[in-house]
Amino acid sequence: MNEQRKDTPEQTPEVPQSAMPDLMKDRRRISEGETFRFGCHKGLKCFTDCCGDINILLTPIDVLRLARRLEMTTSDFLAKHTQMPVTKDLHLPVVMLKLGPEPGRRCDFVTEDGCGVYEDRPWSCRMYPLGMAIPPAQAGKETEMAHFLFEDDFCKGHGEGQEWTLDTWKADQGLENQEEIETGFHEIVSHPWFIGGQRQLDPKRMEMFYTACYDLDAFHRFVFKSSFIKSFELDEELVEQMKTDDEALLRFAFRWLRFALFAEPTMTMTDSAVKRATGATIERES
Ligand code: SF4
Ligand code: SF4
Repeated sequence: MNEQRKDTPEQTPEVPQSAMPDLMKDRRRISEGETFRFGCHKGLKCFTDCCGDINILLTPIDVLRLARRLEMTTSDFLAKHTQMPVTKDLHLPVVMLKLGPEPGRRCDFVTEDGCGVYEDRPWSCRMYPLGMAIPPAQAGKETEMAHFLFEDDFCKGHGEGQEWTLDTWKADQGLENQEEIETGFHEIVSHPWFIGGQRQLDPKRMEMFYTACYDLDAFHRFVFKSSFIKSFELDEELVEQMKTDDEALLRFAFRWLRFALFAEPTMTMTDSAVKRATGATIERES
């Protein structure tokens, strides 16, 4: 382990420990180019021990892929397989995989042979034993993702198998092809609007975030069964694509959230929608 630590590039931007979520504090930081040895396979004493009694945060693409795999709507998937922790520290709704009952609190998808939804397993299951933290947004600074190694005693995969870097691990776990869409989500979660931690989204905007990010089927109805499409200047080809392409709709959802939550100029309203909005404002004021 000490030898691996020697490989740490000196130019790695330092994220102060105080800025890290508690879960990541005092864990070993894995920087680009640094290596760790890890191997997970059936036959290890701990096989699937990590699939219970654990908090698994779901990203929007996790919810979407799992729902599609199970042939469920995103609304039904969210109701059956997820829960939302309620803590006053959260500035945005977070969705977690609902686990089975005590004792064990096993994941609904675990089987004797391993993960029963392997090809569509959540981002954090792919990342393990690595974790990632997004430090709070700071004025004038680009948010630097920080990666950490979980070295849990129960996990016997450390020191097994081959050596990995961040990049080779992500490639092996199929994380690279979802990185761009995950980045779109992280850019909202760590948006400069939240700098200082004083601003809170109101309940209506929280609901908008939840629907657009996680309940894509409800967002689809909102976009295509209301006056939404007529309210914005949108490329016709994109509109057609979003009708059937979930990932295109999710990318669009992130774009719309930046407009609707943070007033970024990512969308342009049509003249008639501007007039309607202005008229409504004037009516409210008179
Ligand atoms: S989704 Fe798969 S890998 Fe993740 S906890 Fe459940 S069974 Fe384990
Ligand atoms: S080696 Fe670690 S990740 Fe693999 S099954 Fe065991 S506890 Fe889980």
